[in-house]
Amino acid sequence: MEEIKLIVDGKRLDGRGFEELRPIKIEAGVLNRADGSCYLEMGGNKVVAAVYGPREVHPKHLEDPSKAIIRYRYSMAPFSVEERKRPGPDRRSIEISKVSREALEPVIMKALFPRSAIDIFVEVLQADAGSRTACLNAASVALIDAGIPMKGMVTSVAIAKVDGVLVLDPMKEEDNYGEADIPFAFLIRNGKIESITLLQMDGRVTAEELKKALEMAKKGAMQIYQLQREAILKKYVREEVME
Ligand code: ADP
Repeated sequence: MEEIKLIVDGKRLDGRGFEELRPIKIEAGVLNRADGSCYLEMGGNKVVAAVYGPREVHPKHLEDPSKAIIRYRYSMAPFSVEERKRPGPDRRSIEISKVSREALEPVIMKALFPRSAIDIFVEVLQADAGSRTACLNAASVALIDAGIPMKGMVTSVAIAKVDGVLVLDPMKEEDNYGEADIPFAFLIRNGKIESITLLQMDGRVTAEELKKALEMAKKGAMQIYQLQREAILKKYVREEVME
């Protein structure tokens, strides 16, 4: 395979520095039929999240008398990637749905809603690496928009190792040809990172690199967190003006 250089003259292929995020755009409350929703762009990713609930559980046998059940469905539109993606669930989307649900579950105050369901749907309209992180960021805003009581915000970003260096928020080429891809998600409470709720790794890094990756991801996540907050605040200001 021909070697592809991902770092040229100390810069990444899209001109970013190693610790620079892609441009991010977040809008809360974009869908009328959902209880909460969010549209989010993170570089070339375009995703939308819709939250329904707390609502009755169907099928009934899944209900839990002590708390709400959380369901998360990640799905990619057929036109979201270069070659048409076959619609419907596949191994990858089932895995992403599972780890993303687990990343959100500890943050949602489930015990307040026994025998109910909170359903989170995320749709990838355009993918450009890190779509699971973009979807988690959107889902978190949509949950807050739905008024679901949360212990904090979930914020997600990936780190990649490319040409021997760690970079924040990898785009497609860095994800495809890099040596490692490490998505993180954090619970951020009162402006502070409290815990890691998702950590995956594809490829290899040293223990030292993993520590550095964590520090870089935390810094990136704090920037994304500010934008998530702003999107929520903006929605509420908009509602007040309309009243
Ligand atoms: P993530 O999007 O969270 O980084 P992956 O690492 O599995 O998840 O995928 C990286 C990127 O590869 C995706 O964002 C997307 O651009 C591309 N990709 C994923 N699945 C497909 C597919 N079925 N066909 C074409 N491209 C895909």
